[in-house]
Amino acid sequence: MLDFQTPTTSESASYDPNRRLTGGRRVLVVEDEDDIQELLNFNLTREGYDVECVGSGEEAIRVLKARRFDAIVLDLMLPGIDGYEVCRRVKADPASRNAKVIMLTAKGEEVDIVNGLGTGADDYVSKPFSVRVLIARLKSHLRPVVSTEADEQVVRARDLVLESGRMEARVGEERVPLTLTEFRILMLLAQNPGWVFSRYQIVDSICGPDHVVTERSVDVQIVNIRRKLGEHARYVETVRGVGYRFISDERE
Ligand code: CA
Repeated sequence: MLDFQTPTTSESASYDPNRRLTGGRRVLVVEDEDDIQELLNFNLTREGYDVECVGSGEEAIRVLKARRFDAIVLDLMLPGIDGYEVCRRVKADPASRNAKVIMLTAKGEEVDIVNGLGTGADDYVSKPFSVRVLIARLKSHLRPVVSTEADEQVVRARDLVLESGRMEARVGEERVPLTLTEFRILMLLAQNPGWVFSRYQIVDSICGPDHVVTERSVDVQIVNIRRKLGEHARYVETVRGVGYRFISDERE
């Protein structure tokens, strides 16, 4: 049976979604204005990202040669080498070209945006920007647990096997016919056995900022996942008043 209680704050068995979902992702902030640099450093660190800040294009190039980053928040107007040139170099170097570049452009300057995307930037945010929007963009580019990266990711939990590349779920030899959303939810839970996820956390981590799945419809997805898992439905457990978790051990 599903329970439709709203999540409570007493999520003792829960976890810190920010740290868990973004931790270890390295973000380079290239911004010459101290207050903006500080604002980004504070907020991205709080989100669980591993943040490094530099104030010029030259420093950015130097740091990028020494270390790998998952994403770069790149101001366009920098002293010396500007954001366009940094972006060009990032995207031309095989060592750094997989880093997602989010450019900070001047307000309403369409030419900046067009030029920025032309140099290979993955996204842009116009100044003055909302930190929440920037973080949402960053998250959508660094999809945490179930990404669309080409790298095959295989998760084994109990006798369940989930393969991200083929979007395939199997129990033993038998294929479980999940939809994409169902697959992503099950992947999220199975990758973190024992962790309790609230409906909100599930929506947030599988959909990013462009939500197509509502918190309530998570319940429907879970019903379908359980139905398709058949006798293994008990793997996905409802935690009353909190959300769902994948049972990590044999307790029955
Ligand atoms: Ca600037």
